[in-house]
Amino acid sequence: MSRIIIAGNWKMNRNIGESIDLANSIKRLLYDVEEVEVVICPPYTSLSDVREVIMETNIKLGAQDCYWEKEGAFTGEVSVPMLKDVGCEYVIIGHSERRQFFNETNEIVNKKAKAVLKEGMRPIICVGEKLEERKNGKTFDIVKGHVVNSLAGLSREEMLKAVIAYEPVWAIGTGVNATEGQAQEVHKYIRGLLEEMFDADAARSVRIQYGGSVKPDNIKELISQEDVDGALVGGASLKADSFVQIVKNCL
Ligand code: PEP
Repeated sequence: MSRIIIAGNWKMNRNIGESIDLANSIKRLLYDVEEVEVVICPPYTSLSDVREVIMETNIKLGAQDCYWEKEGAFTGEVSVPMLKDVGCEYVIIGHSERRQFFNETNEIVNKKAKAVLKEGMRPIICVGEKLEERKNGKTFDIVKGHVVNSLAGLSREEMLKAVIAYEPVWAIGTGVNATEGQAQEVHKYIRGLLEEMFDADAARSVRIQYGGSVKPDNIKELISQEDVDGALVGGASLKADSFVQIVKNCL
């Protein structure tokens, strides 16, 4: 498994035809890249078709959310076994847009993470402070709350399968990324929390991505930091050229 993981979160963008085109372009441009783990997360409606495109490549499929129950009367929800069935290996959990617009709490994030792990899949668990919280010196408190409560009750073995994405909310979709120093400071802090919750070995092994206005021209500095193990990319993952260049700049 590569240490560096770059995941593209397409959010609520791209219909099926557009998704197939985007996935095909990414596949063509990344055919020889093995050193970076690449995950693409299209909307639910495109998962099946994108899976066909990236089958037998190194590119992995991810979903942007899930529900924690396996099946039943939960209109509109999609379960983890359904995502596994369609070929997903990763599921983004607790993205700040879900926390903000859909009132997702750490407890909900925790239930979803456990459901993903139970199916043998990998959650990408998002944490991060809002601008106001950073301005008020609350960054570490907020991140600690997200990490400790979202990961509550996970075994060491489960934790090793999970990925954490540090995504300062003020950097998402704003064009203002955290500096490499700001990212490293929080990533190091998260690794320290993991050491307290699990142990030093586990803390070292867990991959921590940075997310927030990652572009081809800032990924090198971010990835050069000791505790930054990749990126969760929103806007720049919607164009094959920029997404592929982000991946290639990690080589
Ligand atoms: C995201 O939504 O996870 C994200 C990081 O978005 P962007 O790259 O557009 O800031």
